[in-house]
Formats: sequence, structure tokens, C-alpha cells
Amino acid sequence: MERSIAYWIRKRANITPNRVALIGENREFTYQDLFSEVNRVSAFLQQKLHLKKGERFAILSQNRVEYLITYFAAAQLGFVAVPLNIRLSASELAYQIQDSGAKAILYESELKSLFDELHQLVSFESAHTFEEGYAVFPMDNIQHDFSEGIPNDPYIICYTSGTTGKPKGAVLTQENMFWNALNNQYALDLTSSDKCLVILPLFHIGGIGLFAFPTFLSGGTVIVPGKFHPKNVLKIIEDLQVTVMMGVPTIFNTLKNEESFHQTDFKSVRVFCSGGAPCPVELIEDYHKKGIPLYQGFGMTETSPTVFMLSKEDFQRKVGSIGKPVMFCEIDLVDDLGKSVKQGEVGELIIKGGNVFKEYWGLPEKTAEAIIDGWFYTGDLAYKDEEGYIYIAGRKKDMIISGGENIYPLEIEQVIGELKEVNEVAVIGIQDEKWGEVPIAIVSLKENESLLEEQVQNYCSRKLAKYKVPKQVVFLDDLPKNATGKLDKKVMQQNYNFIHLASKNVK
Ligand code: ATP
Ligand code: MG
Repeated sequence: MERSIAYWIRKRANITPNRVALIGENREFTYQDLFSEVNRVSAFLQQKLHLKKGERFAILSQNRVEYLITYFAAAQLGFVAVPLNIRLSASELAYQIQDSGAKAILYESELKSLFDELHQLVSFESAHTFEEGYAVFPMDNIQHDFSEGIPNDPYIICYTSGTTGKPKGAVLTQENMFWNALNNQYALDLTSSDKCLVILPLFHIGGIGLFAFPTFLSGGTVIVPGKFHPKNVLKIIEDLQVTVMMGVPTIFNTLKNEESFHQTDFKSVRVFCSGGAPCPVELIEDYHKKGIPLYQGFGMTETSPTVFMLSKEDFQRKVGSIGKPVMFCEIDLVDDLGKSVKQGEVGELIIKGGNVFKEYWGLPEKTAEAIIDGWFYTGDLAYKDEEGYIYIAGRKKDMIISGGENIYPLEIEQVIGELKEVNEVAVIGIQDEKWGEVPIAIVSLKENESLLEEQVQNYCSRKLAKYKVPKQVVFLDDLPKNATGKLDKKVMQQNYNFIHLASKNVK
């Protein structure tokens, strides 16, 4: 049972009952309080959701303490949680409900209109709001004889971001959470003195695994501030003396552009970690100049999520790298035949470890393609430097083949990103009669900046081989993003003609 995560809270309530475990917008829980609350919520879910072990229930909510409490209750009961991305449309959510077979749903009343829309498309055997349920459920209904979920059974079905196709339900187990927690604890030296601020959504593995669960295992404090407001986040960092925080590049960029950023005291911060998408080197260096330790890490939904993390020794020396694989996680870089590539060569990243997911829900063929002999084939391309540090080269699906040459869009994006006028950039391949495919760049500029197509192409010509210089550069105010906030190259590719017409440099 040690690897069942409900056990962590029970054990913490026993050994460190008075430490602060969780801070929400208006509430604070010690480990003892949290244990009681997890039990109360378990009793509520047991009585109201009418589920058997292994059956699924969905959660439709913004970040709030009840979200984390629900995850622990689900672990305690052996129910499977299906967290829903609130930025998806009702019909996209309906697909995930039907796909996962979720029979019940918990939602927050602020999202009632989205819930109502969803409810017109799918039916639930039971539906409850946090407010109606958790707040009023009487303490005397609690039984303490929950028989916990089995560590290796499905625990959370977490849908991937849908960057390369339809989101897939990655089946994660409590055992996966255990190894991820341990991996992060070792990677960041997490202790009971840590205060972890959770700003990534709790419906994404980033919010759950980085670093909420690892902090609980360490006996530290998890802070869940609700909606993301940059000014509020900066104030919390200073007022509550936050030590660790995970974000994605867009968030770190937004925080940096917030007026109060320069007045904020970041002294308490040990680690800001960026992952989920490539982080521009300039952005990392801007943080370092201010004395803030921003590291890169690398994770995936399917790996619960952490696979790589730079270390405190290397984060300044190895800017641009994602570091080395974490403690209990093995990796290799392989060619199309599954053979390890040489140092410096680009290969597909494959991963093995207790944090690797069980399967894609309802997709046995996709699972069989992705997990071979216990190795997870990620579809990401990477290379290793002479010291063994890993650099991401991009996704296999994004690779452009032009006149027989492989082009990694990320390399071109990094060069264009060096131009100080550029806010965001995406490079995609479009069909070309002569070359098969050619790269083109789609760029958004910072406020009050201007740049011409020729300037971008000339800069690229100085830094890159000719076949990598974008044949066209189009400018948009904003680049399309998916519901997780990642650049949506699928949409850019499908709508290229439209984007080209809408761009600002078409004469
Ligand atoms: P889908 O699998 O549905 O296409 P997705 O891969 O974007 O979507 P996630 O699981 O949220 O879904 O993201 C994992 C991916 O994010 C990785 O496979 C990798 O491509 C990218 N990624 C994560 N961290 C980094 C990083 N530090 N640098 C570059 N890319 C990263
Ligand atoms: Mg993926």
C-alpha cells in the first residue's frame, strides 16, 4: 500500500499533523485537516456518485483546493478521475466523456453554463457541484474503512494536449504518480520547507505532477491560488515566500511582462521550472539576469510527466538543454530501426520507468505502437552533447523533408526568436512542387515593433543553411494555440492559405 497515494496523506497526518499542507484562496489545511477533508470527500463521493472501483467520473473545474482533495479521495476509493480541460468546447468534452465512459461528474458552479451545454450532449448518472456537495456534507457520515485503490490500476485518465492529433486518454496509475513524485523530489531536493505554487491547470498532468503531488510526499506546502492573474501570482510568490513553481514558456513570458515583475522580491525562489514546450533561450536568460533560477525540464502526459530536469549545478551553464533524465527513468535516442544513434545525432526519444503510463484508453493499437518492450516511443526528436546533456530537436511529425534534407522547425524557430522584435514564431512545412516541402515561418511581433519578411530571411541566411531559410514569412497578431496554450501547428497547416491571406505583409 505504500505506493497508493492516499497513504501519503494518512501517513503525513500521523507524522507531521500540524504542518501546513495546502493553502487555497480563503482556506488553509494542515496535514491533519487535509486527511479529515479527504475522508469527508471520500464519503461524499462514495454515497453520491454510485460508482464501483475502476469506474470513471469526470471533473470540470478551475484550480481550487477541492480538485486536489478529490484526487486523493479517488485514490482512496479506487475511482478513476477524468479531469476535463475547461478550455475545450462542449462537443470536444462530450467526446472525452463518451470515450472514457465517465458516468458521473463533479463541476464547480461557476462553470454551470459549460456543464449545461455538455449535459445536452451526454447524460450522467449523477452530477454534483463542489459547492452543493463538499461544503455541506455532514462530518458524521464519514466511515474510515475505505478499501484503497490498487496502485497499478487505472487512477487518472489524463487526455494529452492534442497538439499532433485528437487528444488521447493516457491511463495513469497511482504507481506512476509515486515514481513521478520521487523523481521530482530527487531532481529538486524537495523537502518539508518547500512551498510549491501551482499555476498550471489541475486538469493537466503539469498541475498535478509538478509539483503538487511531489510536495505532498515531501511534507511541504502546496498553494493553489485559483484563476491565473499574473499580478496576483507575483504577489503570492513574495508574500508566501514560494520556493518552487512550474510553468510553461508563455506563462514565464507573461509574468516577465507584468509591470510589478521588476519590483517583486524573488529571494525565496529555489526553482522556477519551464516545460511543456521549447523555452526560448532569451527568456531563460532574462530571468537569470534578474537572479531568478529558471530551469528547463521536459515532461509528457504519458510519463506523469517528468522525464528530464536540469540541475542546480547546470541550469546557467547549459541554457537551452532539458538536462539529463531524472533518477528512476531511463532514456535512449534511436533511429527508425530502433538502434541507438551516435552522440550529436538526432534520434527519437524513448523512455522507460515506473512513471510511464499503462496504456491509451480504448486504443490498443496506439498503445502497441507506442510501448515496445517496455520502452515508450515518444515521437520527440533529440540529440545529446558530449557531456550527455539532451537537447530537443522537435517532434517527428513536424519534421520537414525538403529536397531530401531533414529540417527541424525548432532550429529555425530558435534563430528567428533571437530577433528582439519577435514575440512568437512557428515554422511549418508546406507542399512545394520542386522540393517536396519547404519551410515557412509564421511570426507575431512584440507591441510597437515592426519587421519585414526580407529582414527575417536575411537574418536566417546568416545563421542557417540555405534550404532552411523560410521561403515565406507571414506576420499575424497572434498565433493559433490549442486548449493547453501550445502553438497549434495543425491549425496553421490546415489554414495556411487563409493565414497567408490574413497576414499583414501580403501586398
Ligand atoms: P498530443 O500528444 O495530443 O499531440 P502533446 O504532446 O502536446 O499533445 P503533452 O503531453 O501535454 O501533449 O505534451 C508533451 C509534449 O510537449 C512532449 O512530447 C514534447 O513534444 C513537448 N515538450 C515538453 N517539454 C518540452 C521542452 N522542455 N522542450 C520542448 N518540448 C517539450
Ligand atoms: Mg504527445
